[in-house]
Amino acid sequence: MAENGMNLRQAGISLDLSGKVALVTGSSSGLGMSIARYFAKAGAKVAVHYHSEKDQAEQLVREIISNGGVASAFGGDVSSLSDVESIFRQIDQKLGPVDVLVNNAGIDGKRALCGEDNPEDWQKVIAINLVGPYYCSREAVKRMKSRRSGVIINITSVHEFIPWAGYSAYGSAKAGLSMFTKTLAQELAEFGVRVVAIAPGAIKTPINRDVWSNPESLKDLLDKIAMPRLGEPEDIGKAAVFLASDLASYITGVTISVDGGMLIYPAFKHGG
Ligand code: NAD
Repeated sequence: MAENGMNLRQAGISLDLSGKVALVTGSSSGLGMSIARYFAKAGAKVAVHYHSEKDQAEQLVREIISNGGVASAFGGDVSSLSDVESIFRQIDQKLGPVDVLVNNAGIDGKRALCGEDNPEDWQKVIAINLVGPYYCSREAVKRMKSRRSGVIINITSVHEFIPWAGYSAYGSAKAGLSMFTKTLAQELAEFGVRVVAIAPGAIKTPINRDVWSNPESLKDLLDKIAMPRLGEPEDIGKAAVFLASDLASYITGVTISVDGGMLIYPAFKHGG
């Protein structure tokens, strides 16, 4: 096995991100934290971004540094253009221009049917989950295009494909982010910049604690997944490090689903 691993490295096939500066938005918890850890393990200098969980972000930075990596924490609201511009300026000064951007920060919002909801809540989900990635990508593109290199990974959801009653803003934002991914990929391919999306299924993080901490709703959720388990944040970290690396050098403009088979309609296993 070790010999085969050596052969792969000699052939230039590796997940090495040494020297790359990677910004992961919302990496103070959940999927973003796992992605940041995998990037650091692959040798990237990681910009750990947080909104309100400064302590958790600083703890992650300490963990990465104590493991021999390079990381720094940056705070701000991705739905604020001035915050995003300031985050990128600070990263330029501290780590260098961003080579890899992961638009991960997001919320699912309050459950409410259309007409019974509050328009401000709807707009907040769009502002964080769709406008935020646009603001961050805009800053990243300015830095990547001129250097003719870069990768943008947008974290969408299986709800870019599957409607979810009571969460119309969430699904609309994620489907919009999918089209943004494809459009940006088309704009940037000639500049050596790849843009891809990861659509996670049900991954155990704080965002869905109310579902997996309740045995009844957990069973209902498991029935929707072909593989007999919830996803772990590491499942997304592994996919992200692959997509950021040269192993994925010819992949752009697509969504990779990491969902244990949620999109293959597991309920049909028992007859249609
Ligand atoms: P999480 O709640 O642990 O993480 C969300 C992160 O976004 C947090 O770090 C939070 O601080 C940050 N954030 C929220 N509002 C922000 C704002 N205004 N500005 C900047 N940052 C902000 O949840 P998670 O499960 O890790 O979610 C990460 C991403 O994955 C989200 O985009 C989510 O929609 C997506 N996703 C998660 C799942 C899942 O099952 N966990 C499934 C599909 C998609």
